[in-house]
Amino acid sequence: NITERKRTEDAIRQMAFYDALTQLPNRRLLQDRIPQQIARARREQNRIALLFIDLDKFKPINDQFGHAVGDIVLMQVAERLRHNLRTSDSVCRLGGDEFAIRLESTDTIDGATLVAQTAIDSLNEPIEAGDHVCFIGASIGISVYPVDCQDAENMLRNADIAMYEAKKKGRNCWHLYDADGVTAPGRSSG
Ligand code: GH3
Ligand code: MG
Repeated sequence: NITERKRTEDAIRQMAFYDALTQLPNRRLLQDRIPQQIARARREQNRIALLFIDLDKFKPINDQFGHAVGDIVLMQVAERLRHNLRTSDSVCRLGGDEFAIRLESTDTIDGATLVAQTAIDSLNEPIEAGDHVCFIGASIGISVYPVDCQDAENMLRNADIAMYEAKKKGRNCWHLYDADGVTAPGRSSG
């Protein structure tokens, strides 16, 4: 039965490439797509930005209110991140409290930092989860092709490194990856 087989294949694909909690694409799908996007950007001489997001002090929400409340917060985070994007952009859950936003053809780096700041602002709004109101922040690292990376692996790695820089600066801010490790003025928020 072809319909049955198609349904099974769709279910397997859903499990393999999407996050069960938020229904967002997962890390595997992102890693699958970035090389294609880089190839297209190279042809069309466009830029791509990757925003690596790690929620700030998320663990205390689990500890205080329980894992189920933490799960609701993660779902709300997914919804908020998805809400502000253009259709050409995409958000995924990398795992745990880590998310990523991929922006296609960001004409300027300012475009990517604006999206990062908008994401932070929206996540700073109180989150209602069950009987609780939760407050979170987010630290965001930004990597831009072809400015600081040439392939998918380095794009994720650099965005991750930049995210840790944002944590180090005091959290709830974004940081642009600097290949030479120097934080130039105007290249980071917070
Ligand atoms: P930091 O500010 O340094 O980012 O610390 P944090 O408290 O946000 O904790 P960290 O990022 O180091 O770890 C993320 C935590 O998220 C660890 C784990 O307890 C929790 N977590 C991971 N996956 C899930 C999930 O699916 N549901 C829930 N409720 N919690 C999760
Ligand atoms: Mg965290």
